[in-house]
Parts: sequence; structure tokens; C-alpha cells
Amino acid sequence: MERLIIIGSGPAGLTAAIYAARAALAPVVFAGYQYGGQLMYTTEVENFPGFANGILGPELMESFRAQAERFGSQIHNVDVTRVDFSQRPFYVWAGDDVYEADSVIVATGASARWLDVPGEAQLRGRGVSTCATCDGAFFKDKHIVVVGGGDSAMEEALFLTRFGSRVTVVHRRDALRASKIMADRALGHPKIDFVWNSAVAACHGQTHLESLSLDNLVTGERSESPADALFIAIGHDPNTAVFADQLELDAARYIVSPDGVHTNVPGVFVAGDVNDIRYKQAITAAGMGCKASLEAERYLEELDAEREAGGLVVSGR
Ligand code: NAP
Repeated sequence: MERLIIIGSGPAGLTAAIYAARAALAPVVFAGYQYGGQLMYTTEVENFPGFANGILGPELMESFRAQAERFGSQIHNVDVTRVDFSQRPFYVWAGDDVYEADSVIVATGASARWLDVPGEAQLRGRGVSTCATCDGAFFKDKHIVVVGGGDSAMEEALFLTRFGSRVTVVHRRDALRASKIMADRALGHPKIDFVWNSAVAACHGQTHLESLSLDNLVTGERSESPADALFIAIGHDPNTAVFADQLELDAARYIVSPDGVHTNVPGVFVAGDVNDIRYKQAITAAGMGCKASLEAERYLEELDAEREAGGLVVSGR
């Protein structure tokens, strides 16, 4: 029987683990086979406070992990395949094993959608990115391409005009999905141009992105376009499949939380991008992990007090 299980090992999950371990809760962390979260797919991180000269994403996450382990977190690199939050204790299945816990923090993140075209995976972190806030500053005076037609794509394109000499938005249709205000801003920006009805078919480059193959989806013509950076902004998928019938999810499948910490099940808390459609930054996720851990700690204290008094915890708030 565990006191606290943390599902996820990005900045949210591991910050929760650091706090919970220091509170002597010996948390069990299910890190996933691909542990470390989104920062494992990036190169230089320049906006995480405390690293004046930047740090590589995977190095930062190894450091989070070592810090969590130092205080007694048990971290397993396995995926959680099923949970049962309908009864106490909670049940969590991972690999061939089933675990029981008094409380759970869900910090499974959201995965950026990728295009799945040739060259994309090899050039990730080498010109191909899904985060303008993280990587835009590397492309000063360069030609930047953004894929997508929603609010994220417009926001990223507008942000990237601070750095790029030119920003080209490639969209698969001839109309934007973005809200009118964001669309108008991007359409009216002197540094932004649009390539309509088109899709990126391949990314090319040896050590760094050099050019893109673009398919015109109306004429079927393929063209080659030089590009220094490609930002893919076609949405995110929260990693919530395992929780579908256990926690309340919104229409976009993010975990619903009135305060960004509690879920609809007392004793189950949420942290990071799996509840955050808007910011999706390592530092915001870490902050959410801290909050979730402090709330879990408080919940467990109440649970202990009620157990001692012979009652059953139902509120958790
Ligand atoms: P989104 O609204 O779902 O837009 C995704 C865009 O990517 C769409 O234009 C879509 O094309 C395109 N797309 C999807 N899959 C593609 C693929 N495989 N290849 C090429 N293009 C593809 O996602 P989002 O922009 O990330 O926004 C998510 C939510 O957050 C929205 O509710 C949005 O309003 C909100 N948001 C708001 C703000 C803001 O207010 N400042 C900023 C960011 C996000 P189609 O149009 O053809 O479907």
C-alpha cells in the first residue's frame, strides 16, 4: 500500500516527487517507458530559471530525476495501463503489477502533434520544433515556417516575427480556424506570409533543417522551399486515455479541475500540461507539480486523522 503514486515524469511529476519525497511520503513514480516528458525532445532550454547559460532538455530532466531519487522517490520506467479510482484505496496497474495507494497525482502531460513526415524526427531540436516560446530565439534573422491554421499557429507566428526575418504560415486549407482577432493580426502582419492549401511533405537537412518539400493539396504539385526553422503548431493531445472513464475530462480530453490541482475524485490530484491547454511550459508544469504535492500531503494528513478517529475521508478539500 503506497501513500502516493505519481503518474508521469515530466517537470510536473518529478517536482511533485521532489516535494512528496522531502515530506517523507516515499512516492512511487510511474515514469513511463519514454520518461522525462516533452523536454526529452528538445535541445537547448534557455528559459528555465536558474540556468543562466541554458541547459539541454534531457540533462535538465535527468537532474530533476536525480533530485527526486535523492530524497527517496521510487521511479519505475513503466507505463500505467489502467487505474481504478472508484474505490479506496485507489488501484494502479503498471506492467504486470497492481499497486494500491491512498492518493494519486496525475501528471501525464500532453503530447504535441507531429506531422509524421520524412526527416521530421531526425531534425527535431535541429530546426524542427513544436514550441516557439522555447526555440524561437535561436532563429534570429532566419526564415521560419509555421504549420497550422489555429490560434496556436497564429500566436506562434506572431511571436516568431520578433526573431525571424520572415515567417511563412503553411496551412492545409484556404481558411484559418483561428479566432478572428488572432487571424486578423497574423494576416495583417508585414513579416508574415501564407501558403494556402498546402502541406509539408518532407524536411531536409544534414545537421540542421535546410529546406522543406511542400505539396499543394489542390493542384498536387510539389515544390521545394528553403527554410531554417519549422514550427509545428497543429495542436496537442493530452495523455488521458487511461483515465477516460475514471476522471472528468473536457471536450478536448484534458482533465477537468476547478483550481488546477483537485480533480472530481478526492485524493486524486492533477498537475502540468494534462490540465493546461494554455501555457504548457516546463516552469508552469513544475509549479503545478509543487501545488499538487502540497495538496496531496494535506489530504493524507486529513486521511490519517480520520482513520485515527475511525471515520472515512470523503472530502479531501
Ligand atoms: P486547433 O484549434 O485544433 O488547430 C489546429 C490547426 O492545425 C488547425 O488549423 C488544423 O487544420 C491544423 N492541423 C491539424 N492537424 C494537422 C495536420 N496533420 N497537418 C496539418 N495541419 C493540421 O489547435 P490549437 O491552435 O492548438 O488550439 C487549441 C485550443 O487552444 C483552441 O481552442 C484555441 O482557441 C486555444 N488557443 C487559444 C489561444 C489564444 O486565445 N491566444 C492560443 C492558443 C490556443 P484545420 O483547420 O484544417 O482543421
